[in-house]
Amino acid sequence: MSETLLRGATVVVTMDDDSTELADADVLIRDGVIAAVGQGLTTTGAVHSAAGCVITPGLINTHHHLYQTLTRAVPGGQDALLFGWLRTLYPIWAKFGPEEMFISAQAGLVELALSGCTLSSDHLYLYPNGARLDDTIAAAAQVGLRFHPTRGAMSIGESDGGLPPDALVEREDAILKDCTRVIDAFHDPRAGAMVRVGVAPCSPFSVSTDLMRDAALLARDKGVMLHTHLAENGEDVAYSLERFGCRPGQYAEDLGWTGPDVWHAHCVKLDAGEIDLFARSGTGVAHCPCSNCRLGSGIAPVRAMRDAGVNVGLGVDGSASNDSGNLIGEARQAMLLQRVQNGADKMSAREALRLATRGGAAVLGRDDLGQIAVGKRADLAIWDVSGIESAGSWDAAALVLAGPTRVRDLFVEGRQIVGEGRMLTVDTAALILRQNLLARALMD
Ligand SMILES: [Zn+2]
Repeated sequence: MSETLLRGATVVVTMDDDSTELADADVLIRDGVIAAVGQGLTTTGAVHSAAGCVITPGLINTHHHLYQTLTRAVPGGQDALLFGWLRTLYPIWAKFGPEEMFISAQAGLVELALSGCTLSSDHLYLYPNGARLDDTIAAAAQVGLRFHPTRGAMSIGESDGGLPPDALVEREDAILKDCTRVIDAFHDPRAGAMVRVGVAPCSPFSVSTDLMRDAALLARDKGVMLHTHLAENGEDVAYSLERFGCRPGQYAEDLGWTGPDVWHAHCVKLDAGEIDLFARSGTGVAHCPCSNCRLGSGIAPVRAMRDAGVNVGLGVDGSASNDSGNLIGEARQAMLLQRVQNGADKMSAREALRLATRGGAAVLGRDDLGQIAVGKRADLAIWDVSGIESAGSWDAAALVLAGPTRVRDLFVEGRQIVGEGRMLTVDTAALILRQNLLARALMD
């Protein structure tokens, strides 16, 4: 038996059903699970001071394209709309291989960990030059984050009237075969799983209707989740109306892409009927506020979704459209955007933090995560609120309203992977060097 006692936190923000916040409190971790929460706890194991800190559940990232950390701030893509942005980046991504996938995934996951994230999903939908989903799973295992990789895909290339170059698309039978392979090799359905695999065709405009339908059948057969991009912007909805003769929500429903085992990224343009459909069916949404701002896609109707009962989590989205992967920053942005749209009383800092924790856990089907309660997994973020950005704050809400934007310590399944703001699992300096060398090579 191994125990760690996190002792003397200024506040423990539990995110339990009653939104309990405990002052001067401790959290006891036993064998990767939260064993007790409260004041005056004791242990015969290790004691870790949390004095001057706020402890929250580890944040959960529901949408990313980790490989894109190698294409941040690409000049031709900085100011383009979605489809033009993709056309600029596709030829660069076509140069990727296994090493680019591994290093970029590590860079993205380290960045997330330092911003309080303990579980990230990833949507990898291109596999050039021998790259595999396995490359990113190996990267996550080394970093020590919980990981929900999704086997994405594109199958309609330029010669078939699609957006991506032919070199980046795959045959649909090969896609389904590889989905089956990675699910069988890596998916863990048990409580406390460190890896869960999903099936994730890139978007309705980059694969066929048949593949969307077959992917849903495969995922249900295997008991894994489904993920894609949906209703991201006006162009996306116009394409759906023209090509499929219906709105994105209808298209998703017709192909089996609604239900508690499905989550869609963005959903900026969902109308009232689609919000109702998502609420009734338990379909989840990965809200990516910074990416939506960066690409000018609009403000997702998160207030309306939440009020209707839709499960909403947060995502940083790929680093070619954010370009930052700071998840606590994303919570702040989500709060600000809902206030711009609906008024200052329509999204509190605490609700934004709830989206980043409990919301993400619900979207990813993880009732073992997202809150600090006895029996939940010990995924915990410790925020030092004794620094300059917190100086003068009156309340724990300052974590979202003011800062800090980096954790001091981070625990995943009870294992410490960040200490005093530094990664304990990988050599960050060497990683940055390698990442920059690979980015440099891609520019040629
Ligand atoms: Zn995306």
